[in-house]
Amino acid sequence: MQIDIEAEKREILNRYKLLIKACKRRLEKGDKEIIRKAFEVAVEAHKEMRRKSGEPYIYHPIAVAQICAEEIGLGTTGIVCALLHDTVEDTDLSLDDVKGLFGEKVAQIIDGLTKISGVIDNTSSIQAENFRKVLLTMSEDIRVILIKLADRLHNMRTLDHMKRDKQIKIASETLFLYAPLAHRLGLNTIKTELEDLGLKFTDVAAYTDIATKLKESEPERKRFIQKFIEPLKEILSEQGFKFKIFGRPKSIYSIFNKIKTKHVTFEEIYDIFAIRIVIDSHFEQEKSDCWKVYSIITDFYHPSPERLRDWISTPKSNGYESLHTTVMGPEGKWVEVQIRTTRMDDLAENGYAAHWKYKESAAEKENKFENWLLRIREMLENPDPNALEFIDDFKLNLFSDEMFVFTPKGDMKTLPVGATALDFAFEIHTKVGEHCIGAKVNHKLVPLSHELASGDQVEILTSSKQSPKDGWLEYVITAKAKSKIKNCLKDQRKRIAEDGKEIMRRKLEKFKIEFTTKNINQFCNFLKLPSSQELFYRAALNSVDVNDIKEFVKFRENPNKKPKKAEAPKIEQLVTSARGKTDMLVIGDDLQKLDYKLAPCCNPIPGDDVFGFITIGEGIKIHRVNCPNAIKLLSNYAYRVVKAKWVNDQLISFLAGLKITGTDEIGIVNNITKVISNENNVNMRSINFDTDDGLFEGTIMVYVHDTKHLNHLIANLKKVKGVNNVQRIDEKL
Ligand code: MN
Repeated sequence: MQIDIEAEKREILNRYKLLIKACKRRLEKGDKEIIRKAFEVAVEAHKEMRRKSGEPYIYHPIAVAQICAEEIGLGTTGIVCALLHDTVEDTDLSLDDVKGLFGEKVAQIIDGLTKISGVIDNTSSIQAENFRKVLLTMSEDIRVILIKLADRLHNMRTLDHMKRDKQIKIASETLFLYAPLAHRLGLNTIKTELEDLGLKFTDVAAYTDIATKLKESEPERKRFIQKFIEPLKEILSEQGFKFKIFGRPKSIYSIFNKIKTKHVTFEEIYDIFAIRIVIDSHFEQEKSDCWKVYSIITDFYHPSPERLRDWISTPKSNGYESLHTTVMGPEGKWVEVQIRTTRMDDLAENGYAAHWKYKESAAEKENKFENWLLRIREMLENPDPNALEFIDDFKLNLFSDEMFVFTPKGDMKTLPVGATALDFAFEIHTKVGEHCIGAKVNHKLVPLSHELASGDQVEILTSSKQSPKDGWLEYVITAKAKSKIKNCLKDQRKRIAEDGKEIMRRKLEKFKIEFTTKNINQFCNFLKLPSSQELFYRAALNSVDVNDIKEFVKFRENPNKKPKKAEAPKIEQLVTSARGKTDMLVIGDDLQKLDYKLAPCCNPIPGDDVFGFITIGEGIKIHRVNCPNAIKLLSNYAYRVVKAKWVNDQLISFLAGLKITGTDEIGIVNNITKVISNENNVNMRSINFDTDDGLFEGTIMVYVHDTKHLNHLIANLKKVKGVNNVQRIDEKL
């Protein structure tokens, strides 16, 4: 192919002029010259390079700068960095050159962009480490990630020219990381485009299918929207509002998600589009104006009471403000209506870009945004050694919807949906979390694992004697609480191991084994323990004892004889006698060494039919055979299932949940608690009662020894006047 160099030069200049036009509004004295300089440096640096499409490479940095100016609203420094963003990585230009030409700040941002250019995907932990780097750099200067988003957007727009495997890889990363980031930064337009393009390259068939159907249904949709808004236009004008009203189809990606998660067809999705009303309003009057519009619309169309969302009184943490309602439109169709002001609309669509325009009024939003960055920094300060797990936690917090809960004094806290009382405690303060024993939610006592709901008022109960337990990790979902608990458990283990070290030293000396690193390591290997700390820890808990040392001595005398301990436990063999007093359960044939935990999904107690399940990283968990998760575990992971059997022992109590229903007789709660306290050795952990129209429903968590003990209690509770039914429940409360 013949390339017309002169024509290309003209085109490059044309594109540069368009860029300058896009930033014109914000240019101050001298800015134009700096941008021109960056442009010339970039042209020179990339002059030999071409994109996969055959175009001059410089088209790409110019396009990225254009997006930064037009769609993100970055200032001169951002534009300069966007023009130079690929130079240090891909050309002979060095970071020092950039620093010399454009100063410290530009060099710092370019450095960040170069560092995070490594590939991020969701398949390996090396990439997980890169992911952390992205976030770390991002929290240094937000422009790094904004330029990176623009870079990604342009690459996605021009992805057609890449090879198929590259397309899939880049598109997956986009859906995995960049689209959620854009969402969090409030860049709705960019987020939507990234998602749609991401889908286009990862699931071509689904994308084409939805795109075609949207196109086909367009005339019908337009007709309906017209019919819907016609009368509203009239009334809103009469009332003196200056407004825009229009219908907007949902993005292809969000329709795709709905089809997938709700198992519906395209035709069955009723909210394929939403009506948006954008009104001009003074900042002080925004809220009341929006509600006035709401009132006008619902005078005309009947609203669904469950579908009112007020993001104006309580904006989302990415700054989103809007009033959403769903009304019954013509032809018996539900229609979502979004009401907002011009300012809110601008911020929702363009996020950061719009902040410049509304600086004063958006001060609070800026604050929220800063808080969000702060949380990211916090997460990064306590990185998990397991980077993949860190990503899971982080993504959970990035993706999940949020809810608002209140302290007793009425301060609002934002938590991801699904967060528990314990998450809330750690949100308040690490010390509060560590000593949390339970909470009062809306004045009702609940355990620390209680899942919170939006609007809850939560008071945390603490005790100085409390400290984090292993099981706590199952009760929390926020990255913050998880990392704090893990750190604490690690410290606890370390302290216990310190004590264990002395115990081990004394024991070994009795057997004339010198306490040297070499011997300790040998002993660890012999017991197949990962570290000496683990050995000392177990010594302190007495789970490594004299018998182990005797075996070890024999092994040292005759190393070739295979030690008994090293044999893999055979699942089918079952030992039926317990040695340790606290061993309530025997598992496989290696009963001494196997720690187990009771699964919180079904809370087994002695007497229940149980099985053990070997988890990754958390040892063996005991489930009831009729646990709701049992089928899945037994069918998919049969090889990880071990037999387990209870050993008779009455010393330990186990937690079980009961649901009691009946009629609301006077004193019934009192009578129920009396029965429980009269029962031998039963302790109550929590109790919750709800009454509704003469009926009551209660849940009680009690500590019992076994099923016999529990059944006895159930029988007695059934005798209480007014009680209709008493049922054991699976979940923890
Ligand atoms: Mn680039």
